[in-house]
Amino acid sequence: MPSLSIFCTEDILAEEEGSLNEECEEHLDNLKLKVEEETLDKVMESMEEIPEVCPKDQNVQHFLHSLVHWKRARQWLGKKEEEKEGETKDDSGERRELLRKMLVMRGSKETGYAGDWLNAVPCEALGTKMRRAVFLTVLRWWMGGRIDQAEQCGVRTASGRICGEQLDQWGDHAVSCKVGPGVIARHNGVNLAWMLAEKAAGYSVQREQKVVFAGKKKPADTLVWGWKGEDACAQDWAVVHPMTKKGLGARKLDPYEAVTQAEERKKRLESSMCADAGVGFVPLAMDTFGGFGPSASEALEVVADQMRTLKGEEDQEKEF
Ligand SMILES: [Zn+2]
Repeated sequence: MPSLSIFCTEDILAEEEGSLNEECEEHLDNLKLKVEEETLDKVMESMEEIPEVCPKDQNVQHFLHSLVHWKRARQWLGKKEEEKEGETKDDSGERRELLRKMLVMRGSKETGYAGDWLNAVPCEALGTKMRRAVFLTVLRWWMGGRIDQAEQCGVRTASGRICGEQLDQWGDHAVSCKVGPGVIARHNGVNLAWMLAEKAAGYSVQREQKVVFAGKKKPADTLVWGWKGEDACAQDWAVVHPMTKKGLGARKLDPYEAVTQAEERKKRLESSMCADAGVGFVPLAMDTFGGFGPSASEALEVVADQMRTLKGEEDQEKEF
């Protein structure tokens, strides 16, 4: 007897859902959260049709789950934000919340693993262990909560100049402030975690290594030896914040825009320089909601595969 009953699914599918605009429909398509109208009509006509319309490569239980998941995702995207006390509701808040939902939904290899940070094993050596206060703030951020903070940004430069910009309830300025060390520290943190992961996978890696590009020395964030058959490969991270005026003001909200653009920008600027120096180049981008760009997702797969190979070899050795 399936644990998710057909009757229960029927009730859920009959529930109301908010209206979804074109960008949401497109996003659900990208996430492969799609149920053909014909299938839905048949299911709603008679739930006894379920085994008939269930795809051949899926069991009925999984199919029921996918229908419920599809419905819940639609309801979530279509739900308007509730007004918070003391806040005036406006369109910009709605758009921001919709973009946040789209950003955190990017859960797969194809869409950028945005939620995977919640599955990371806390490890000091890998830089994945967060202090309680940090974890709570990050989780609140990810879930769209307001961030309590002072009215003005009090970050100072090395020479003592104060930033003084107005801080917003979302934390947008806090993560993008150019005055303080935050943006660079975040980049360096990601870079260090990446280097340690590559080392753990067996790669020979150097960090902040100077490479001679056309007579000029330029540091490569990470220089990896033997990457996908290349002698040396420079890898460079960008960590971007998608909640910008441009991102929120776009005609169509696009949760992939910030990371994809960041990778393309890096590639444009650095790949030919690297090629001239006989070094490969991989641009890597992630965003402040934990999602990775296409090139970074691919690189993560390469390292994960390498780790699996290494582990497999070790297991085999134990048998002898
Ligand atoms: Zn600031």
